[in-house]
Amino acid sequence: TIISGIEQKPRIVLMGLRRSGKSSIQKVVFHKMSPNETLFLESTNKVVKEDISNSSFVQFHIWDFPGQIDFFDPTFDSENIFGGCGALIFVIDAQDDYMEALERLRHTVTRAYKINPRINFEVFIHKVDGLSEDYKMDTQRDIHARATDDLYDAGFEQVHLSFHLTSIYDHSIFEAFSKVVQKLIPQLPTLENLLNIFISNSAIEKAFLFDVVSKIYIATDSSPVDMQSYELCCDMIDVVIDVSCIYGLMSGDELAPAFDRHSQASIRLNNGTVLHLREVNRFLALVCILRDDAMEKQGMIDYNFTMFRAGIQKVFEVRKSQNRKMAAISFT
Ligand code: GDP
Repeated sequence: TIISGIEQKPRIVLMGLRRSGKSSIQKVVFHKMSPNETLFLESTNKVVKEDISNSSFVQFHIWDFPGQIDFFDPTFDSENIFGGCGALIFVIDAQDDYMEALERLRHTVTRAYKINPRINFEVFIHKVDGLSEDYKMDTQRDIHARATDDLYDAGFEQVHLSFHLTSIYDHSIFEAFSKVVQKLIPQLPTLENLLNIFISNSAIEKAFLFDVVSKIYIATDSSPVDMQSYELCCDMIDVVIDVSCIYGLMSGDELAPAFDRHSQASIRLNNGTVLHLREVNRFLALVCILRDDAMEKQGMIDYNFTMFRAGIQKVFEVRKSQNRKMAAISFT
C-alpha cells in the first residue's frame, strides 16, 4: 500500500446511529447554525463527504454515516475511509437507549482498527443538556465501562477510546472538537510553547489560538482551561465577526472578508478584565484574557505579538516545505 499520509489532510470521520445528532453537530460547529434550528434538519440518507478546507485552518473531511447504511457492505470502501483517517468520532445519543449504539461502536472500532491502528477513537456522549449532573456522570461511567468491556471481550484491549460529554446547546461541543483536532496537529507542542512565551512576557493571563470559522481552539498556553474563559473568547469572536459583517463593508467592497489582516479588537469588561483579539493569519486569531492594567503596556504587547505572529508563520512554513519533500517519497 502507498501511504501518502503526510501530504494528505487529516481526516475526521463522524459516525453514529441515525438521529444521534451528527448533522446537527456539523451544522452548529462549521456552519454557525443555531442549535434550535437543528430541530428541522432533514435526516441524511447518504454519505456526505465535506471538505471545509477553504474556509478553515482545520483541514479535514467529514463523512457522515447515517445509521441505516451498512458500511460493512463490500461495496463500501472502508480501506480508503479508515485508511487516511486521523480521528473517528462516534456519536451516542445519551438521551436514548444506547445499547444498539454500543453494539455499533464495537463493530465500527474493531473494523476501523484492523484497517488503521493509528486512528484516534473519540466517543461523543451527546445531547447531555437534558441530563442532570449526576446522571451525566453515571451515564459516562456506564458507557465507558460497557464500551471498553465490549472491546476487551472482542480481543481489542489495546484499543484506546476517549470520551467527551457534548451538547450543541452549550460550548461543550466546541471544546470536545478542539481536543479532537488538537491531537491531529503535529505542531501542537511548538504552538503551546510560543503561546507560553508570549503570555508570560506580555502579562496576559490566558491565550487561545482559534480557528475563526469553527471556533475550535487549536492551541492554548499550558495554564488550565476553564470553560468560562473559553466561552468568553468564543463570544468575542462572534461579536467581532458580527460587527465586521455589519460595519466592515462600508468600504463598498461587498466581498471584503469579515476577518482580515487588520482585524483586531479589545473589549473591556466591568470586572477589570480585557478581551483582546488579533488576526494571526487567514484562518487563525489569537484571543487573550488580561487585566486592564496590563493593557497600559499595549506597545509591549504589540511588539510581542508581532514576534509571536512571525513565529507561527515559521512553524507552518516549515511544515509546508516538509510536506513537499515528503510528498516526493512514497512508502511501500
Ligand atoms: P443525525 O441523523 O445523526 O444527523 O441526527 P440529527 O443531526 O438530524 O439530529 C437528530 C435530532 O437530535 C435533531 O432533532 C436535533 O435537534 C437533536 N439534537 C442534536 N444534537 C442535540 C443536543 O446536543 N441536544 C439535544 N437536546 N438535541 C440534539
